[in-house]
Amino acid sequence: LNPHVEAAARLVRVDSVNAGALLAGHDAILDGTDNFATRLAVADAALRLRIPLIAAAVGEFEGQLGVFRGWEADKPCYRCFTGADPERPGINCAEQGVLGALTGVMGSLAALETIRAIVPFGEDSAGKLLIADTLALRFRTLALPKDPGCLACAA
Ligand SMILES: [Zn+2]
Repeated sequence: LNPHVEAAARLVRVDSVNAGALLAGHDAILDGTDNFATRLAVADAALRLRIPLIAAAVGEFEGQLGVFRGWEADKPCYRCFTGADPERPGINCAEQGVLGALTGVMGSLAALETIRAIVPFGEDSAGKLLIADTLALRFRTLALPKDPGCLACAA
């Protein structure tokens, strides 16, 4: 709807080899992918390129949203949050299922954070994790500290 927004669709699987080339030159990166291999490839490229990463995820009954700018001294990167090897057998969308309505909520919140990454307003969300708990129907925010031993962003 906004004539100043440029969108280009590409039918390519993002991986650690092509992520940097695909993502370079953008103002923000919004990741809603459903596997850690892609998430880590995107997160590593975002960190290298110094592009804000807005990462939204949905588990069975919980949504998570974080903004990552790990190149800044006091802000965590995505790997500060997940650790080096976040993959856990049997813990994925395909095997657990997700609430479709929750993906809509988290997608809209991620779109809002993407706007806030491009045109900052309000409190900075980097360094925090928003959790949507659908079992209690409540939102809460946790502090996400930078990991001083992080292999991706620690100096
Ligand atoms: Zn880190």
